[in-house]
Amino acid sequence: MAVLPIVILGDPVLHSPAARVGVVTDEIRTLVADMYETMDAAPGVGLAAPQVGVPLRIFVYSYEDDDGAPWRGVVVDPELWITPPEPGHPDPDDESEGCLSFPGERFPLRRADRAIVTGTDLDGAPVRLEVDGWRARILQHEFDHLDGILYVDRIDDADAKTAAKIVRKSGWGVPGRSWMPGVDDLDA
Ligand code: ZN
Repeated sequence: MAVLPIVILGDPVLHSPAARVGVVTDEIRTLVADMYETMDAAPGVGLAAPQVGVPLRIFVYSYEDDDGAPWRGVVVDPELWITPPEPGHPDPDDESEGCLSFPGERFPLRRADRAIVTGTDLDGAPVRLEVDGWRARILQHEFDHLDGILYVDRIDDADAKTAAKIVRKSGWGVPGRSWMPGVDDLDA
């Protein structure tokens, strides 16, 4: 297993729809093992294959509730259903999220409170996740990555301006930029 470099906003792999996986090969199993290791090293609560430069519809997630119950897994070729998000502006304290491909920043974003994700695991067995709150946010965020959407593509105009400034200042927004968990001092 290996920690992989995480691609930063601007690389085309993050901004185009990823391809369906279909059959899980040994190469895919190795990729997913590396994705878990990379997510844990970052650390992050989710990681999609395009974020390590692989344009395939796979993501991993790992989140621990306040009660300490672990929630962790992989979904191959996911489908997503969500409830309509509440109207109004997001609360910066309760509704801010970050992304390992836009490291070190957080912006508020209104998301659906409930989500259902279906797909398969590495053995081709069906997966069904029916969640709410932060887990629903994580699944929506990771699913977006597979459609070439970053959460900063969805934030309010004022925050989008701030984000664009950060992109310019950091020299992001171009192909080929990445960072290495455990090596580069960037926390998301
Ligand atoms: Zn992300």
